Amino acid sequence: MKLNLNIQPLSSWMNVTHQPLVISGPCSAETEEQLLATARLLKATGKVSVLRAGIWKPRTRPGEFEGIGSIGLEWLNKAKAETGLPIAVEVANAKHVKEALAAGVDILWIGARSTVNPFTVQEIADALEGHDVPVMVKNPINPDLSLWIGALERINRAGITKLAAIHRGFSSFEKTAFRNQPMWDLAISLKTLLPQLPILNDPSHICGSRELIPFIAQKALDLDMQGLMIEAHIDPSVAWTDAAQQVTPAALSEMIDGFVLRKAESKNPDFVDKLAVMREKIDQIDDQIFQKLGERMKIVEQIGEYKRDNDVTILQVSRWDEILQKRTAYGSVLKLEKDFTEKVLELIHSESIRKQTAIMNATKAELG
Ligand code: PEP
Ligand code: MN
Repeated sequence: MKLNLNIQPLSSWMNVTHQPLVISGPCSAETEEQLLATARLLKATGKVSVLRAGIWKPRTRPGEFEGIGSIGLEWLNKAKAETGLPIAVEVANAKHVKEALAAGVDILWIGARSTVNPFTVQEIADALEGHDVPVMVKNPINPDLSLWIGALERINRAGITKLAAIHRGFSSFEKTAFRNQPMWDLAISLKTLLPQLPILNDPSHICGSRELIPFIAQKALDLDMQGLMIEAHIDPSVAWTDAAQQVTPAALSEMIDGFVLRKAESKNPDFVDKLAVMREKIDQIDDQIFQKLGERMKIVEQIGEYKRDNDVTILQVSRWDEILQKRTAYGSVLKLEKDFTEKVLELIHSESIRKQTAIMNATKAELG
């Protein structure tokens, strides 16, 4: 299924001065000096295309720094006048949109805490009506693809065609090395449903700590995302928000130099031929996998009927344990990750149980 949104290509509204596209700047504008000093150094790297800064900060707890407010727009404009960099801010309500547009902000973005709320997104969309400004929509805090798509649709329906998504990871109960789980498959699903939508990655908010950022950023580039939003601060150690994840402009520059830019396609005819041969092999193997899965399910059905006729429960835990153990051991010999083998087996097993449950229940209905 493809969704029908009227979206302009990124190149028609974003002047990418250096590949990959990098949007950078502090998490929050704190003081005029901090913002200007950061902006100057970012500009000097020659690798940053847009300056970002949060001036209205939705914080998890009241009492934390909630942003410097409207005065930050003046500082951003000074930074823009001095560096020539277009400026981007987060907006979270109609008043923010009005002020940002009046101040000549070049790009607006909607934060993760706003995308979760359709009322908020609609309020922002209504305020955008009649304005031709680029808008980037961060994914919602929770891993809900429809909510993300819904927000993009609301903004698009307000007439915004210079639209992009930002993948900033998802909150999860489970504590891991990441501040927000990347859950790449959600970003990939969005790309599949809306191939024309530019998707940028925000490794800063995924990682939560600066050491991890280069790995996530590289992975995003390898998944063909169209740019990166990375937080940078003149002195991250004293940053008022998100201190652990901000990098200095110098560190950002070094990080960008380390990125490997791979192409989505190669013009080399030899490469294209070899790729076609390998893809053909993959197609054949996939066909075999599904054929075998079909055969397996037929036997599962036979077993279901046999269990039904002998009044035996569907699930025998000892048998399931045995399957798990044997197959994961075999999988590891074949160099398959244990976690992967287990997930595949669980999927197959739950489908088998579903089929056998249907067989058992059909009998009850017949008897009844
Ligand atoms: C931010 O960009 O500083 C921010 C608040 O991000 P998010 O909405 O992704 O949490
Ligand atoms: Mn931040």
